Amino acid sequence: AAVEGFDVEDVEGAIEAAGHGPLPVLAVVGRPNVGKSTLVNRMIGRREAVVEDRPGVTRDRVTYEAEWAGRRFKVVDTGGWEQDVLGIDASVAAQAEYAIEAADAVVFVVDAKVGATDTDEAVVRLLRKAGKPVVLAANKVDGPSGEADAAYLWNLGLGEPHPVSALHGRGTGDMLDAVLEVLPNAPAQGFGTAVGGPRRIALIGRPNVGKSSLLNKVAGEERVVVNELAGTTRDPVDEMIELGGKTWKFVDTAGIRKRVHLQQGADYYASLRTAAAVEKAEVAVVLIDASENISVQDQRIITMAVDAGRAMVIAYNKWDTLDEERRYYLEREIETELGQVTWAPRVNVSASTGRHMEKLVPAIETALAGWETRVPTGRLNAFLGELVSAHPHPVRGGKQPRILFGTQAGTKPPRFVLFASGFIEAGYRRFIERRLREEFGFEGTPIHISVRVRE
Ligand code: GDP
Ligand code: GDP
Repeated sequence: AAVEGFDVEDVEGAIEAAGHGPLPVLAVVGRPNVGKSTLVNRMIGRREAVVEDRPGVTRDRVTYEAEWAGRRFKVVDTGGWEQDVLGIDASVAAQAEYAIEAADAVVFVVDAKVGATDTDEAVVRLLRKAGKPVVLAANKVDGPSGEADAAYLWNLGLGEPHPVSALHGRGTGDMLDAVLEVLPNAPAQGFGTAVGGPRRIALIGRPNVGKSSLLNKVAGEERVVVNELAGTTRDPVDEMIELGGKTWKFVDTAGIRKRVHLQQGADYYASLRTAAAVEKAEVAVVLIDASENISVQDQRIITMAVDAGRAMVIAYNKWDTLDEERRYYLEREIETELGQVTWAPRVNVSASTGRHMEKLVPAIETALAGWETRVPTGRLNAFLGELVSAHPHPVRGGKQPRILFGTQAGTKPPRFVLFASGFIEAGYRRFIERRLREEFGFEGTPIHISVRVRE
């Protein structure tokens, strides 16, 4: 494609960069204080540093985007562990388990100065069971004298220990090269691999909103025995459920059912679990307790699904308990607190009475359709042309930036690249997004718009 004032290579590069599919996921696991967060910081570079945690402060951000040797992937950091909630072995095992479940490959970090401990051995057992590719990072090898310590870690039976210093960067490049060798280009839970297979749903929401009640209600007697379905992953944490004449895969339901670790202080685990479920799913059904005020935690969970680029449905549960007054205030709260996601289909349900359960599937299907929408380039540019002439960008410094050309670079979710003759202001970008939605729908899906400006 040629665009006035742009090199063909720039245009093609921009489209390719924006059009990437879902990114593969790398989990970084290990005991506390071995240097996981330091290593993750190094991987993600300056772009979005992991915040220094004060002890006792819950971190809810657990996934980050990273790039090495021109390849992009997601990193799940399990460094935000919480002391005193569980015993150390159980804590490490729980967080490693969640992260490994969602991962396509794992970096297992061991403190080479300390050597392998019993807790490390416990993680090794988990890694063996999971069968995912593992790269062993022997951390805190700050200089050549530490290399011998690293070599001891051959004993773990995970192959070559890669001596690194997360703190100083020594050896991390070689280790990342080894990671890229085992990390697939696209997630194995991949959106391409399961063509025709069951669609994957993550049922998420803060504790007590009614996730397990809803799951029980929709599953009813319709639970499908996983083994009977050819070509499906026999992941015990996922559950096949028949709804509206189709089979759906509800991912990560074990966490909903078992309610493990949901004691005080377990917010971090809940975040990790939610992030893992969202990564594995195509569509997130976010459950909100309509009888209570919409909380910051509800908003964070919604943000996780949006940032991950998943299709989304919002279900307001416990509708049976709402009186007129609460209904009035709920609508006001939705307007003020959830104005950013007005595009998400909404259902008002009751897991207790079964109210509107039949509306769930159509909402999910709408969201998935929006998520997969592709707008032909001709139609898009006809629309953009009309839009720009009817509502030109405001003049700035005597110049009027123009959108010259646009194309949809990818789907799941829809990603657009616009080429412009000058800087396009945030307000105008939002205006374009709004009009794109009015014109083409995109119900139930975030959309990404990146703008390239002619030099
Ligand atoms: P996490 O709990 O596994 O996430 O560990 P952190 O990344 O928070 O690191 C724990 C401590 O080890 C911090 O004080 C780090 O500065 C230190 N540390 C991390 N990596 C290295 C390293 O490569 N060399 C040295 N000497 N110290 C490190
Ligand atoms: P989870 O922590 O999100 O899995 O929530 P649960 O399914 O365990 O539900 C938490 C509490 O809310 C339980 O006491 C449920 O009986 C109750 N609950 C769940 N859904 C509804 C509903 O639709 N209406 C009413 N009245 N209560 C509900």
